[in-house]
Amino acid sequence: MYQIALVAGATHVLFVGLFYGMGAKTLALINVGSVLLFGFSYVCLRLRRNMLATSLIVLEILGHAMLAVRVIGWDSGFHYYLLVTVPVVVISRMKLPWFRAALISLLLVLYIGMDYTMRELPPLDVLSKDMLSMLRYFNIATTFLLLAYLASIYMKLVMKAERELRLLATTDPLTQLLNRRSLLEVAEYELLQRKRHPAPLAFVLADIDHFKSINDQHGHAAGDAVLQAVSQTLRQALREQDSVARWGGEEFLVLMPDASLEVAQSVAERLRKQISTIEVPFNDTHIKVRMTFGVSSHQNDEPVDAPINRADAALYRGKVAGRDQVVAAPA
Ligand code: GH3
Ligand code: MG
Ligand code: MG
Repeated sequence: MYQIALVAGATHVLFVGLFYGMGAKTLALINVGSVLLFGFSYVCLRLRRNMLATSLIVLEILGHAMLAVRVIGWDSGFHYYLLVTVPVVVISRMKLPWFRAALISLLLVLYIGMDYTMRELPPLDVLSKDMLSMLRYFNIATTFLLLAYLASIYMKLVMKAERELRLLATTDPLTQLLNRRSLLEVAEYELLQRKRHPAPLAFVLADIDHFKSINDQHGHAAGDAVLQAVSQTLRQALREQDSVARWGGEEFLVLMPDASLEVAQSVAERLRKQISTIEVPFNDTHIKVRMTFGVSSHQNDEPVDAPINRADAALYRGKVAGRDQVVAAPA
């Protein structure tokens, strides 16, 4: 709506010059009023008075079209601008749908009413035939441009909403890593690829050691800060083609395409060392983090949960054996 008010205001500045140049001083003056009205609507929008602003914009377009058609005649084509109000009303943030529907119906009645009463009415200011044609073509072109512009604003809004929804559906809000479901989707895709072109695929399941005691000692917010720091370290330390997800509370799953069990094991060892250097600042302390890793690799045609279960079993063995270590699952 800000953009609509600005573009409409700018269009009317153009009209002021155009009509002044044509000698149609009354219309030039009407357009000065329009510029001020759009400016005021812009201020209303900034103050979040959306309903007032939208009503003013629609009223301006209506009043302006009626006045211009009355002063220089139906053939000037100023009534086309009424069509622009329809998408303005639809994309405005008016909360009540029935109010929007009523407003659009009212606009339709007004448009037909204007056509019925003003089409044959002689103009008050008579412009030359050529001048009138030029003005009409200009108005038709501007109406097209404004409609295309409004459609593009709407398109951008839809695309932005779609991006936000996709992000919400695929990522974990706390760590910004992939969520469980989207990592499984990536894994299924990788398995499908391997049916045609066999290549290794490794899984690393990692779990923060004694995370519960971090929460208990420093509070839940400290636990969250640790989760964020660990996520950042994992993401930065891995290759672009590796996927990393928050698998559960303080558990992370890494998918490594084209990495053998040995390669994945050494990558996990590197991750473990890097994690052990983290000191998460929280209040007056620095929290140290340790992690245990279970590594596995996908075999033949087995389903995706088979290597994940093996990585989980390896991780469990690592926990039992004293934590802060990497354990590889035998194939
Ligand atoms: P282990 O070394 O055996 O893995 O022990 P642990 O304490 O890390 O494991 P446990 O499963 O006993 O505890 C995990 C804790 O993680 C329990 C749960 O309250 C906490 N947790 C899960 N999700 C979140 C979260 O989003 N934020 C925070 N702060 N804590 C979480
Ligand atoms: Mg744990
Ligand atoms: Mg756990």
